[in-house]
Amino acid sequence: MTANVLQPLSELKRAPDGVIRERGQREVFCGLTGIVWLHRKIQDAFFLVVGSRTCAHLIQSAAGVMIFAEPRFATAIIDDRDLAGLADANEELDREVARLLARRPDIKLLFLVGSCPSEVIKLDLSRAAERLSQEFMPNVRVLNYSGSGIETTFTQGEDTCLASLVPELPASDDKQLMVVGALPDVVEDQFRGLLESMGVGPVSFLPMRSANDMPSIGPNTRYLLAQPFLGETGEALERRGATRIVAPFPFGEKGTTAWLAAAAQDFGVEQSRFEAVTASARDRARRAVAQQREHLEGKRIFFFPDSQLEVPLARFLADELAMQLIEVGTPYLHRDHLSVELELLPDDVRLSEGQDVERQLDRCHEDLPDLVVCGLGLANPLEAQGVTTKWSIELLFSPVHGYEQAGDCAELFSRPLRRKQMLTI
Ligand code: SF4
Repeated sequence: MTANVLQPLSELKRAPDGVIRERGQREVFCGLTGIVWLHRKIQDAFFLVVGSRTCAHLIQSAAGVMIFAEPRFATAIIDDRDLAGLADANEELDREVARLLARRPDIKLLFLVGSCPSEVIKLDLSRAAERLSQEFMPNVRVLNYSGSGIETTFTQGEDTCLASLVPELPASDDKQLMVVGALPDVVEDQFRGLLESMGVGPVSFLPMRSANDMPSIGPNTRYLLAQPFLGETGEALERRGATRIVAPFPFGEKGTTAWLAAAAQDFGVEQSRFEAVTASARDRARRAVAQQREHLEGKRIFFFPDSQLEVPLARFLADELAMQLIEVGTPYLHRDHLSVELELLPDDVRLSEGQDVERQLDRCHEDLPDLVVCGLGLANPLEAQGVTTKWSIELLFSPVHGYEQAGDCAELFSRPLRRKQMLTI
């Protein structure tokens, strides 16, 4: 055991770019968590985690028990016999998949999701997916990706899932826009409406809502990221010839406007048309955000690394709600995808990448922020110490993108502060 000595902020090791990079113990969910929102999005897909009882518990407790609906995720449990090499895990997997697909003809896309245990026993899920696809095509396509905690954090499960879809997309040479990153249907419809009204299109979304509705891709496809954690997916899209539209992320009125404007510019939309299409939604967003500003202005916020949404959300909170950023931690800082966001952050912000949780907790205690954004594992102990927290996982489960959600997004941060105020009156 090592003593945890408080490290003065002035002595923190920073890289030449000013970012604190830490490679210590981290407190982040694994990539399996993405199944919780992805299974709601692709409605004829099924996520079969090839993992342990721990993996099953994580998914079940994060997603809730669906008693009345046929679930769209499950865990094929790797047990002691598999771990000891006494059973042929491939044979068992084939048998379970056959049983599942016989019982559930509604499944059109099956993801085999790798976990820590499947990695440890070196179960080759890409070969299994190929083998099973050959057996069950054309009715069911079988793909695989990793959600293992050894390889992925929290939102990276969505990245590896979407990256596994890209080679399957049909080819097209048409000029078109693909919005990339899982969004609630209602937000997707709002974005489609705005983009099409200004003449940008055709517009498609990845992930798609149905396996039969795969968007096409080619050298004239422009893609616009809706989520900042899609590094692997971006590379896969570019290997298929698509080009990324450089933009910030659509959080808040300004972020959404700049995100839409980047697409509009790429598609040659006149400024006057852009203004006409966005004016009323912008006005609604500005008014909704202003209502939250009185609760958030001047409040000091500290982000622990978790969802990779930290940088764009910090920009929104600093710029549109006048919050003071103390530390903005992120598990991984994708400099390219975040280039516009990083320019918009205040110069004096302390950015950190990766985690050494004890040291970061020391910094947090020294800074005494008004609000801490962190994962569930840290939130309860911090609350017990009197620190006000916001669970970062809520930012993935709640609609937070776009104009109509800008006020709700800000409210997610003001609510814990108001609750604390009410409890202390
Ligand atoms: S994939 Fe690994 S980290 Fe995630 S629940 Fe399973 S064992 Fe735990």
